[in-house]
Amino acid sequence: MRRVVAPVLVLHGGAGMRGPAEERPARRRAMLEAAEHGRSVLESGGSAIDAVCAAIVFMEDSPLFNAGRGSALNAEGEVEMDASLMVVPYGAAAGNGAVGVGAGGVAGVRRVRNPILAARAVMTQTPHVLIIGPAAERLAFRSGLALCRPDELVTDRARVRWQTHMARASEHGTVGAAALDLHGQLAAGTSTGGITGKMPGRVGDSAIVGAGTFADRIGAASATGVGESIMKATLCREVVRMLARTTAARAAASGIKIMAATVGGEAGIIVVDRHGRIGYAHNAQAMDVATFTPDEGLRHHLL
Ligand code: ASP
Repeated sequence: MRRVVAPVLVLHGGAGMRGPAEERPARRRAMLEAAEHGRSVLESGGSAIDAVCAAIVFMEDSPLFNAGRGSALNAEGEVEMDASLMVVPYGAAAGNGAVGVGAGGVAGVRRVRNPILAARAVMTQTPHVLIIGPAAERLAFRSGLALCRPDELVTDRARVRWQTHMARASEHGTVGAAALDLHGQLAAGTSTGGITGKMPGRVGDSAIVGAGTFADRIGAASATGVGESIMKATLCREVVRMLARTTAARAAASGIKIMAATVGGEAGIIVVDRHGRIGYAHNAQAMDVATFTPDEGLRHHLL
């Protein structure tokens, strides 16, 4: 391992309909606090994957986001959560095959407080990439993660949204992170309750490596928005591949543009490249982003 660049982190708190104005200050504070958790991991020499998980766990525990506690409810008023992550150590796959590249995901989990940690358990404890439902919950339990009753994850806010079906198209509040650590490791992760009123059993992009989450040796990305569009466009992989020929900011913007032109739908994406350059873009009403960079420290952007 060698130091290649200063560490950076970028988070999203979902793209979709603009949330109520009175929630904005609390969401801003929560995004900055989540970024602070990730920053302190990175600045103490910790790994990109630890920073991504620290930031996402904080947002999963906050009732303000559509992930973990506060998740959107399906057509039957139940929580079914998806999450995934991917990590690429410095030097991996640089002509030697995909040595050391890790990926894990869970889908349709109902009793896991922190689905991103269950996704990490899939990556570290199994030879697989995606485990669903009760089997994923059992794996989480065997890995020492906290399980809970499904109703402990249901907030009044999610219940009201479900009753009014206010956010049927795209619930603002999925969470994601992408980071580069000082050893050059790249990682990304995403966690969501999905879309309010979704059909039970529906799995979105946030569980799917390549669609809602992707990392390779040139960059790492996390998406949010209409999962069906993001999956059809394999949005995160497309945007990371573009980093070979353009900047992170341009890759994010053209990924969203190409998705909208080819399959339609609203989405947002955050991306970091191996040099520590950050990009983000969306075509929804709004998107929350927080960044940590050596030049600017912690910042929140309501786009
Ligand atoms: N992409 C998520 C899903 O389709 C939802 C979101 O990001 O708002 O499950």
